[in-house]
Amino acid sequence: MQGLRHILEQAPNGVAVGHFNVSDLVLLKAVFAAAHELNVPVIVGASKGERDFLGVRQIANLVRSLREEFDFPIFLNADHTHSLTDAIESAKAGFDAIVFDVSSLPLEKNIRQTKEAVEALKAINSTILVEGEIGDIGTGSEIHEEAFNVSRFTTPAEAKEYVDSTRIDILAPAVGNMHGMLKSMVTGELKKRLDIERIAQIKSATQVPLTLHGGSGTDDDDLRKAIAAGINIVHINTELRVAWRHGMEEGLTKQPNEVVPYKILPFAVELVKQVVRSRLKLFNFGADPMSALPRTKKEN
Ligand SMILES: [Zn+2]
Repeated sequence: MQGLRHILEQAPNGVAVGHFNVSDLVLLKAVFAAAHELNVPVIVGASKGERDFLGVRQIANLVRSLREEFDFPIFLNADHTHSLTDAIESAKAGFDAIVFDVSSLPLEKNIRQTKEAVEALKAINSTILVEGEIGDIGTGSEIHEEAFNVSRFTTPAEAKEYVDSTRIDILAPAVGNMHGMLKSMVTGELKKRLDIERIAQIKSATQVPLTLHGGSGTDDDDLRKAIAAGINIVHINTELRVAWRHGMEEGLTKQPNEVVPYKILPFAVELVKQVVRSRLKLFNFGADPMSALPRTKKEN
Protein backbone atom coordinates (compact mmCIF):
# COMPACT_ATOMS: atom_id res chain seq x y z
CA MET A 1 0.00 0.00 0.00
CA GLN A 2 1.14 3.55 -0.71
CA GLY A 3 2.50 5.60 2.17
CA LEU A 4 1.17 9.01 3.08
CA ARG A 5 4.12 10.82 1.50
CA HIS A 6 3.47 9.12 -1.83
CA ILE A 7 -0.25 9.90 -1.67
CA LEU A 8 0.45 13.58 -0.98
CA GLU A 9 3.02 13.80 -3.77
CA GLN A 10 0.93 11.97 -6.35
CA ALA A 11 -2.47 13.54 -5.57
CA PRO A 12 -3.90 15.24 -8.66
CA ASN A 13 -4.32 19.02 -8.57
CA GLY A 14 -7.57 19.95 -6.83
CA VAL A 15 -7.52 16.96 -4.48
CA ALA A 16 -6.73 17.11 -0.75
CA VAL A 17 -6.58 14.41 1.90
CA GLY A 18 -9.16 14.82 4.68
CA HIS A 19 -7.84 14.88 8.26
CA PHE A 20 -10.40 14.21 10.99
CA ASN A 21 -9.73 14.30 14.72
CA VAL A 22 -10.99 11.54 16.96
CA SER A 23 -11.53 11.33 20.72
CA ASP A 24 -13.14 7.93 20.87
CA LEU A 25 -14.11 4.81 18.94
CA VAL A 26 -17.40 6.39 17.75
CA LEU A 27 -15.48 9.05 15.83
CA LEU A 28 -12.88 6.59 14.54
CA LYS A 29 -15.58 4.20 13.27
CA ALA A 30 -17.35 7.07 11.51
CA VAL A 31 -14.17 8.42 9.86
CA PHE A 32 -13.08 5.00 8.67
CA ALA A 33 -16.56 4.01 7.40
CA ALA A 34 -16.96 7.18 5.33
CA ALA A 35 -13.48 6.96 3.79
CA HIS A 36 -13.83 3.24 3.12
CA GLU A 37 -17.19 3.73 1.38
CA LEU A 38 -15.79 6.50 -0.84
CA ASN A 39 -12.51 4.61 -1.26
CA VAL A 40 -10.31 7.65 -0.60
CA PRO A 41 -7.25 7.92 1.67
CA VAL A 42 -7.83 9.51 5.05
CA ILE A 43 -5.82 10.82 8.00
CA VAL A 44 -6.98 10.37 11.59
CA GLY A 45 -5.77 13.11 13.92
CA ALA A 46 -5.25 12.93 17.66
CA SER A 47 -4.21 16.12 19.44
CA LYS A 48 -2.68 16.23 22.92
CA GLY A 49 -6.02 16.13 24.76
CA GLU A 50 -7.34 13.43 22.42
CA ARG A 51 -4.17 11.33 22.80
CA ASP A 52 -4.30 11.67 26.58
CA PHE A 53 -7.89 10.36 26.59
CA LEU A 54 -7.40 7.58 24.03
CA GLY A 55 -3.88 6.51 24.96
CA VAL A 56 -1.02 7.13 22.54
CA ARG A 57 -0.25 3.46 21.88
CA GLN A 58 -3.91 2.48 21.93
CA ILE A 59 -4.98 4.84 19.12
CA ALA A 60 -1.86 3.91 17.13
CA ASN A 61 -2.84 0.25 17.34
CA LEU A 62 -6.49 0.90 16.49
CA VAL A 63 -5.59 2.79 13.31
CA ARG A 64 -2.95 0.24 12.36
CA SER A 65 -5.45 -2.60 12.81
CA LEU A 66 -7.88 -0.93 10.38
CA ARG A 67 -5.11 -0.29 7.85
CA GLU A 68 -3.96 -3.90 7.97
CA GLU A 69 -7.30 -5.69 8.16
CA PHE A 70 -8.82 -3.73 5.26
CA ASP A 71 -5.58 -3.02 3.36
CA PHE A 72 -6.75 0.56 3.37
CA PRO A 73 -4.82 3.88 3.33
CA ILE A 74 -5.80 5.22 6.76
CA PHE A 75 -3.01 7.13 8.52
CA LEU A 76 -2.46 8.61 11.97
CA ASN A 77 -1.22 12.11 12.79
CA ALA A 78 -0.16 13.43 16.20
CA ASP A 79 -1.92 16.77 15.92
CA HIS A 80 -0.39 19.78 17.71
CA THR A 81 2.38 18.31 19.79
CA HIS A 82 3.91 21.19 21.71
CA SER A 83 6.89 19.36 23.19
CA LEU A 84 9.60 17.12 21.79
CA THR A 85 8.86 14.54 24.53
CA ASP A 86 5.27 14.20 23.32
CA ALA A 87 6.37 14.08 19.68
CA ILE A 88 8.91 11.33 20.41
CA GLU A 89 6.31 9.30 22.32
CA SER A 90 3.96 9.44 19.30
CA ALA A 91 6.73 8.60 16.82
CA LYS A 92 7.74 5.56 18.89
CA ALA A 93 4.10 4.43 19.07
CA GLY A 94 3.99 4.31 15.26
CA PHE A 95 2.24 7.52 14.23
CA ASP A 96 2.68 8.29 10.51
CA ALA A 97 2.93 12.05 10.94
CA ILE A 98 3.54 14.60 13.69
CA VAL A 99 2.50 18.25 13.85
CA PHE A 100 5.30 19.85 15.86
CA ASP A 101 3.69 23.10 16.95
CA VAL A 102 5.77 25.73 18.69
CA SER A 103 4.16 28.50 16.64
CA SER A 104 3.55 30.59 19.74
CA LEU A 105 7.32 31.20 19.93
CA PRO A 106 9.11 33.94 17.96
CA LEU A 107 10.10 32.73 14.47
CA GLU A 108 13.81 32.21 15.24
CA LYS A 109 13.06 30.02 18.27
CA ASN A 110 10.33 28.20 16.36
CA ILE A 111 12.84 27.43 13.59
CA ARG A 112 15.51 26.20 16.00
CA GLN A 113 13.19 23.92 17.99
CA THR A 114 11.39 22.57 14.91
CA LYS A 115 14.70 21.75 13.21
CA GLU A 116 15.77 19.78 16.30
CA ALA A 117 12.44 17.98 16.36
CA VAL A 118 12.69 17.02 12.66
CA GLU A 119 16.12 15.48 13.27
CA ALA A 120 15.06 13.63 16.43
CA LEU A 121 11.85 12.25 14.88
CA LYS A 122 13.49 11.13 11.62
CA ALA A 123 16.07 9.26 13.70
CA ILE A 124 13.22 7.24 15.21
CA ASN A 125 11.36 6.68 11.93
CA SER A 126 12.95 7.90 8.69
CA THR A 127 9.62 7.82 6.84
CA ILE A 128 7.66 9.85 9.39
CA LEU A 129 6.25 13.15 8.10
CA VAL A 130 6.87 16.21 10.25
CA GLU A 131 4.65 19.24 9.93
CA GLY A 132 5.57 22.67 11.28
CA GLU A 133 3.45 25.74 11.88
CA ILE A 134 3.99 29.48 11.66
CA GLY A 135 1.50 32.26 12.25
CA ASP A 136 -1.51 32.27 14.53
CA ILE A 137 -4.56 30.03 14.05
CA GLY A 138 -5.89 29.99 17.62
CA THR A 139 -6.13 26.99 19.91
CA GLY A 140 -9.26 25.03 20.84
CA SER A 141 -11.44 23.07 18.39
CA GLU A 142 -14.61 24.06 20.22
CA ILE A 143 -17.47 26.56 20.10
CA HIS A 144 -16.12 30.05 20.81
CA GLU A 145 -18.21 32.91 22.20
CA GLU A 146 -16.03 35.69 20.86
CA ALA A 147 -15.09 36.53 17.29
CA PHE A 148 -11.62 35.46 16.26
CA ASN A 149 -8.89 38.01 16.29
CA VAL A 150 -6.38 36.81 13.73
CA SER A 151 -3.21 38.72 14.36
CA ARG A 152 -0.55 36.88 12.38
CA PHE A 153 -0.99 35.60 8.84
CA THR A 154 1.94 33.66 7.38
CA THR A 155 3.96 35.55 4.76
CA PRO A 156 5.49 33.73 1.76
CA ALA A 157 9.00 34.96 2.73
CA GLU A 158 8.87 33.66 6.30
CA ALA A 159 7.28 30.42 5.05
CA LYS A 160 10.23 29.86 2.71
CA GLU A 161 12.80 30.68 5.39
CA TYR A 162 11.02 28.34 7.83
CA VAL A 163 10.75 25.40 5.41
CA ASP A 164 14.35 25.79 4.15
CA SER A 165 15.83 26.06 7.66
CA THR A 166 13.81 23.35 9.40
CA ARG A 167 13.49 20.79 6.55
CA ILE A 168 9.91 20.03 7.58
CA ASP A 169 7.87 17.84 5.21
CA ILE A 170 4.60 19.75 5.53
CA LEU A 171 3.78 23.36 6.38
CA ALA A 172 0.69 24.61 8.23
CA PRO A 173 0.23 28.29 7.35
CA ALA A 174 -2.18 30.88 8.78
CA VAL A 175 -4.25 32.01 5.81
CA GLY A 176 -7.60 33.01 7.32
CA ASN A 177 -8.18 29.62 8.92
CA MET A 178 -8.83 29.31 12.65
CA HIS A 179 -9.42 26.50 15.13
CA GLY A 180 -12.94 26.14 16.49
CA MET A 181 -16.21 27.70 15.38
CA LEU A 182 -18.43 30.59 16.41
CA LYS A 183 -22.09 29.83 17.19
CA SER A 184 -23.05 31.60 13.96
CA MET A 185 -20.77 29.16 12.10
CA VAL A 186 -22.45 26.14 13.67
CA THR A 187 -25.80 27.41 12.39
CA GLY A 188 -24.23 28.19 9.02
CA GLU A 189 -24.99 31.95 9.07
CA LEU A 190 -21.31 32.83 9.02
CA LYS A 191 -18.48 31.12 7.11
CA LYS A 192 -14.72 31.39 7.50
CA ARG A 193 -13.06 32.92 4.45
CA LEU A 194 -9.55 32.11 3.22
CA ASP A 195 -6.80 34.19 1.62
CA ILE A 196 -6.47 32.17 -1.60
CA GLU A 197 -3.83 34.43 -3.13
CA ARG A 198 -1.64 34.04 -0.05
CA ILE A 199 -1.97 30.23 -0.24
CA ALA A 200 -0.82 30.27 -3.87
CA GLN A 201 2.15 32.52 -2.99
CA ILE A 202 3.19 30.34 -0.03
CA LYS A 203 2.93 27.22 -2.21
CA SER A 204 5.06 28.73 -4.93
CA ALA A 205 7.65 29.96 -2.38
CA THR A 206 7.95 26.67 -0.47
CA GLN A 207 6.96 23.84 -2.86
CA VAL A 208 5.97 21.58 0.05
CA PRO A 209 2.61 20.01 0.95
CA LEU A 210 0.43 22.49 2.85
CA THR A 211 -2.11 21.73 5.58
CA LEU A 212 -5.16 23.83 6.33
CA HIS A 213 -5.94 23.61 10.05
CA GLY A 214 -9.26 24.70 11.51
CA GLY A 215 -11.26 23.87 8.39
CA SER A 216 -14.61 23.55 10.21
CA GLY A 217 -17.13 26.20 9.17
CA THR A 218 -15.16 27.30 6.10
CA ASP A 219 -16.98 28.41 2.96
CA ASP A 220 -17.15 25.43 0.56
CA ASP A 221 -16.06 27.43 -2.44
CA ASP A 222 -13.06 28.84 -0.53
CA LEU A 223 -12.08 25.28 0.40
CA ARG A 224 -12.19 24.23 -3.26
CA LYS A 225 -10.14 27.25 -4.30
CA ALA A 226 -7.66 26.71 -1.44
CA ILE A 227 -7.13 23.11 -2.53
CA ALA A 228 -6.64 24.21 -6.13
CA ALA A 229 -4.13 26.84 -4.90
CA GLY A 230 -1.98 24.25 -3.10
CA ILE A 231 -3.60 22.96 0.11
CA ASN A 232 -3.00 19.18 0.34
CA ILE A 233 -4.50 18.28 3.73
CA VAL A 234 -7.61 19.80 5.36
CA HIS A 235 -8.28 19.41 9.09
CA ILE A 236 -11.88 19.09 10.31
CA ASN A 237 -12.56 18.65 14.01
CA THR A 238 -15.23 20.93 15.49
CA GLU A 239 -17.86 19.97 12.88
CA LEU A 240 -17.40 16.34 13.93
CA ARG A 241 -17.66 17.20 17.61
CA VAL A 242 -20.94 19.06 16.98
CA ALA A 243 -22.31 16.05 15.06
CA TRP A 244 -21.07 13.68 17.78
CA ARG A 245 -22.98 15.61 20.44
CA HIS A 246 -26.16 15.77 18.36
CA GLY A 247 -25.94 12.04 17.68
CA MET A 248 -25.43 11.22 21.36
CA GLU A 249 -28.44 13.36 22.28
CA GLU A 250 -30.55 11.70 19.59
CA GLY A 251 -29.57 8.20 20.71
CA LEU A 252 -30.46 9.02 24.32
CA THR A 253 -33.70 10.94 23.77
CA LYS A 254 -35.11 8.48 21.21
CA GLN A 255 -34.52 5.59 23.63
CA PRO A 256 -35.04 7.07 27.10
CA ASN A 257 -34.82 3.69 28.84
CA GLU A 258 -31.97 2.21 26.84
CA VAL A 259 -28.71 1.46 28.63
CA VAL A 260 -26.94 -0.66 26.00
CA PRO A 261 -24.10 1.49 24.61
CA TYR A 262 -24.01 -0.25 21.23
CA LYS A 263 -27.66 0.65 20.71
CA ILE A 264 -27.17 4.32 21.66
CA LEU A 265 -23.80 5.10 20.09
CA PRO A 266 -24.64 4.20 16.45
CA PHE A 267 -26.72 7.41 16.25
CA ALA A 268 -23.53 9.39 16.85
CA VAL A 269 -21.54 7.24 14.42
CA GLU A 270 -24.12 7.93 11.70
CA LEU A 271 -24.24 11.72 12.17
CA VAL A 272 -20.44 12.03 12.29
CA LYS A 273 -20.15 9.79 9.24
CA GLN A 274 -22.47 12.08 7.26
CA VAL A 275 -20.21 15.07 7.99
CA VAL A 276 -17.03 13.15 7.10
CA ARG A 277 -18.59 11.84 3.89
CA SER A 278 -19.64 15.29 2.69
CA ARG A 279 -16.22 16.80 3.53
CA LEU A 280 -14.36 13.94 1.80
CA LYS A 281 -16.50 14.40 -1.31
CA LEU A 282 -15.62 18.08 -1.40
CA PHE A 283 -11.88 17.50 -0.82
CA ASN A 284 -11.53 14.61 -3.27
CA PHE A 285 -14.08 15.26 -5.99
CA GLY A 286 -14.54 19.05 -5.84
CA ALA A 287 -17.70 20.68 -7.11
CA ASP A 288 -18.99 17.92 -9.31
CA PRO A 289 -19.07 14.43 -7.79
CA MET A 290 -19.05 12.97 -11.30
CA SER A 291 -15.98 14.90 -12.43
CA ALA A 292 -13.51 12.59 -10.72
CA LEU A 293 -13.60 8.87 -10.20
CA PRO A 294 -12.76 7.42 -6.80
CA ARG A 295 -9.19 6.26 -6.69
CA THR A 296 -8.79 2.59 -5.99
CA LYS A 297 -6.45 1.58 -3.22
CA LYS A 298 -4.48 -0.71 -5.51
CA GLU A 299 -3.74 2.08 -7.98
CA ASN A 300 -0.10 2.93 -8.52
ZN1 LIG B 1 -4.92 22.29 14.11
